[in-house]
Amino acid sequence: MVSNLVSPDAAVVPELRAAGLRVTMARQAVLGWLAKHPHATADTIARGVRAEYGSLSLQAIYGVLAACTDAGLLRRIEPAGHPARYERRVGDNHHHVVCRTCGRTEDVDCVVGPRPCLEPASDHGFALDEAEVVFWGLCPSCLRADGTGAGTHYQQEEWQ
Ligand SMILES: [Zn+2]
Ligand SMILES: [Zn+2]
Repeated sequence: MVSNLVSPDAAVVPELRAAGLRVTMARQAVLGWLAKHPHATADTIARGVRAEYGSLSLQAIYGVLAACTDAGLLRRIEPAGHPARYERRVGDNHHHVVCRTCGRTEDVDCVVGPRPCLEPASDHGFALDEAEVVFWGLCPSCLRADGTGAGTHYQQEEWQ
């Protein structure tokens, strides 16, 4: 599955070890690439990792993403109607703004206070520790494209 991988990101080795994961070239490559390209989909990660590190199957990428997400090294974001996206920024309960048209995703920090940073009108007796908020809208380039030009083109390129 993995061949010709070059110069994987050694900086992630201690993180993999601390998480109890075996250190593999594929895991180093995916984590290293994602550190520089947050909120990427599996397809985008596959293209980026192949361009930077060498051949790696989509199946191998999915395997790395699943293992690293389970181990808490990656956060998986699943905006409704869009492919899942992955990022290295974990454990801080930050939120996201997502473009309805092209799916571009950016971080939004909590506005005030410690998590869960929102006060529900009723907690139904639950002990709350996290709030997941997605702000939906149009990104600047989709706003400029007005739903016809660049935004649609980007969407096709990104999601096929
Ligand atoms: Zn957009
Ligand atoms: Zn994020």
